[in-house]
Order: sequence, then structure tokens, then C-alpha cells
Amino acid sequence: MSEYLIELKNISKRFGGVRALDDVSIAIRPGEIHCLAGENGSGKSTIIKVMSGIYTPEEGEILVDGSPVGRLDPIQAVHKGVQVIYQDFSLFGNLTVAENLVLNTYLLEGARRMDWPRARKMAREVLARLDVKIDIDADVESLPASGKQIVAIARAILAEARLIVMDEPTTALTRHEVDALFAIVRDLKAQGIAILFVSHKMREMLEISERLTVFRNGRKVAEGAMRDFDEPAITRAMTGLELEDE
Ligand code: ADP
Ligand code: MG
Repeated sequence: MSEYLIELKNISKRFGGVRALDDVSIAIRPGEIHCLAGENGSGKSTIIKVMSGIYTPEEGEILVDGSPVGRLDPIQAVHKGVQVIYQDFSLFGNLTVAENLVLNTYLLEGARRMDWPRARKMAREVLARLDVKIDIDADVESLPASGKQIVAIARAILAEARLIVMDEPTTALTRHEVDALFAIVRDLKAQGIAILFVSHKMREMLEISERLTVFRNGRKVAEGAMRDFDEPAITRAMTGLELEDE
């Protein structure tokens, strides 16, 4: 068995003249909370889209459980257990919580009809597993950002996620909601699910992450155990600048 759940090796991705990713690598261990840090435009969202099969890189290799997967497509990524929660959550606002939660499951199973009693039971169970109280019959549109995020996390769990990638998940949250999210993240870890927490917020990454990868201008500039980094070291890696008051 490989030490890593997923490895992206020597990935390059260009958009026209822009080198969004230039020979970057990142590896995620099963059940770890890993932070991908970098300033705006450093390539964080692009590598996530490579991980989820949305973008095909010009160069590089992807391994899952130590085996090369070749050209990864979005369906294959889901079957490998990679789930991404984008900043907009990608939910159907006009559908209810239960409908949003079970839709993927039904699509993955290739079911022709919804079994509503079963669907509602699944929705209730997954929310109970997260220890949250959300009305499964509410339209998703009516939920606050924190509620939408929980629905997106629950949906990822139902899709049998082994890795949940959260792209800047705290942007729309209050400090209290961030605490609640972090409690859920720790709980997911306890259940063996790895988290890739994508962020540029120093305090949050120091608080939640065990390992760190830092991107700058489409290149990986630092990686290692979080305990080996402090705020100045991360800032230096992210910006490339020496700090004045040192
Ligand atoms: P981050 O998520 O770290 O802010 P991105 O991965 O979104 O960074 O972007 C990395 C670089 O690639 C930026 O220069 C951005 O403008 C560019 N880029 C990202 N996506 C596209 C796209 N679809 N078309 C053209 N340029 C893109
Ligand atoms: Mg981004």
C-alpha cells in the first residue's frame, strides 16, 4: 500500500501564455488535514481542477493509492474518492437539501427512479453523522452560506469521499461558523477522510492543518509538517519577500 492517497507529480498546466502550474507536485496522505497555501493567482484552484479531472495537464502524472491513473476524468476522480467543494458550493438552489444530497448517489448508481423513503433516510443519516440540524425539506437557496457548505460536505460523504478538497472554505463564514466547520473537519479526519484545505489565511491554516504545501506563481516553494512552520516562514514562502522586522 502506498503512503499516499493521491499524488500529483511534476504537473504543468498553461492557459495561453500563462503558466498556471509549472512542474508542481503535491501528495496527500489518507486521513490527513493538509493545507495548500498560496496568494491569489498562485495556482491553487488550477491544481484542484487537475485533481478532480476537470483540467488535463500538459505534463505530469497522477497516482491514486500508488498506481498511475493515466488521464483522469471527472467521473473517474469521483470513483477514486476525490470530492471538491468549490467556493460557490455547486448546489442546486431550487432543490431541497435532501434532493441535493441524494442526486449524485442516484446518478452514480445509474438508478432510473428515486426511492424517496430511502433517499430521505440517507439524507437524515448523513446529516446526523455530521451532528448538524438542517431541515432536509428546505430549499438549499434558503440556507445561509454555512448551511450550504454543510450540505456540500454531506454530499461529498454520500459520494464516498476519501479526500474532500475545500477551496477557500471560510471566505463567507463568521468566526463562529469557522469553529463549527473545523469541528466537522476534525470529525471527518476521525472517520478516515483526508482534507485538503485550500487557503491564504494564516491563522486558520496554522490552527487546522497537519501538513502544508505552499505555491507561489505556479510553483511549489515549500512543503512539510505544519509544526515545522511558523507565521513568518509561511509568509516568506507565500510572498517570496524577506520580512522587515526580523
Ligand atoms: P489561485 O486559485 O491560487 O488564486 P488559480 O489557479 O485560479 O490561482 O490561477 C492561477 C493562474 O492561472 C492565474 O494567473 C490565473 O489568472 C490563471 N488562470 C486560471 N484559470 C484560468 C483560465 N481558465 N483561463 C486563463 N487563465 C486562467
Ligand atoms: Mg482559487
